[in-house]
Amino acid sequence: MNARLPVSYSTQTRHSPTLSILIPVYNEIEVLPLCLERLGTVLTALDCSHEIIFVDDGSRDGSADWLAAHVCSHDNLKLIRLSRNFGKEAAMSAGLQHCSGEATIILDADLQDPPELVPDMLAAWRAGADVVAMRRRSRAGEPWHKKLSAHLYYRLLGHLSNAPIPPDTGDFRLLSRRAVQALNQLPERTRYMKGLFAWVGFPTTVMFYDRAPRAAGTTKWGYRALLALALEGITSFSVRPLRWTAGLGAVTATAGLAYGAFIAIKTVMLGEAVQGYPSLVAIMSILGGAQLIALGLLGEYVGKTYIEAKQRPLFLVRDILQSPPAYARQHT
Ligand code: UDP
Ligand code: MG
Repeated sequence: MNARLPVSYSTQTRHSPTLSILIPVYNEIEVLPLCLERLGTVLTALDCSHEIIFVDDGSRDGSADWLAAHVCSHDNLKLIRLSRNFGKEAAMSAGLQHCSGEATIILDADLQDPPELVPDMLAAWRAGADVVAMRRRSRAGEPWHKKLSAHLYYRLLGHLSNAPIPPDTGDFRLLSRRAVQALNQLPERTRYMKGLFAWVGFPTTVMFYDRAPRAAGTTKWGYRALLALALEGITSFSVRPLRWTAGLGAVTATAGLAYGAFIAIKTVMLGEAVQGYPSLVAIMSILGGAQLIALGLLGEYVGKTYIEAKQRPLFLVRDILQSPPAYARQHT
């Protein structure tokens, strides 16, 4: 290994590596040693210039300190510490703004995305793909309800979005330099990365893989966070739900008119007294509920506009630690 050089605080590299590996980290202390070890093995065998960028998303379990210590003792490591927990989407965006490789691969720290697939992804990129999207063939170690809800959600998203979002494909993927630059140009603050990856387009190769169970630690996504992300995905990429509520309004109004006509005819022709209290309550509750749902949905879109209008930065960087790249030393 090379002699240790002092850690620098600069984001600039004089020579771009071929490959950047981007890993968002939030409370992953249990898995980080294994992650770095397995990545190290793969990258050493690859023999191409590389950098590993960890984005610490406000971890509170010592992950950042552990990584900071390793930046000093490893080559080609970069640690971007965010000022607090901004969420995985923001952490990935931060990493994409700081990576300088010709190709960038996004990996989860928990080794659910096997680093051993990196050589195959690079080969697909060298064969001409700008994006190598990794599609899950299976998801070992995840409960059936998570698999089912993920399956249904990806299908729904596929129907809603104009840019086709490939099903069962998470954030594990390779992006060419120009795809990364395109993503960095997108100004929106509510970032649903799976949708943004699809939106930028570029020649895409899909590769299948078996998603491994978490190597250690626990998932950071509870069902509430997943639901919020799902809603985010749907409302960030389509206004079709708004059209659906207008359609629903038209259907209920027509049904209400028909029912009114039916009652009027029954009363006039058959002379039956109008007995409407229970049905009135039922109809009013249904309509009230439908209106509130539509209002909530509209509110979701208005809220998004409000957040975008504030123009706040997507994340704040606390500091950047960087070990001088070995390939740069070789060239100087
Ligand atoms: N993560 C993050 N910020 C968060 C939540 C998660 O950077 O607020 C990272 C986490 O450290 C991991 C990746 O995102 O590297 C995926 O998270 P996790 O494995 O918990 O999600 P799951 O695989 O269960 O969907
Ligand atoms: Mg995971």
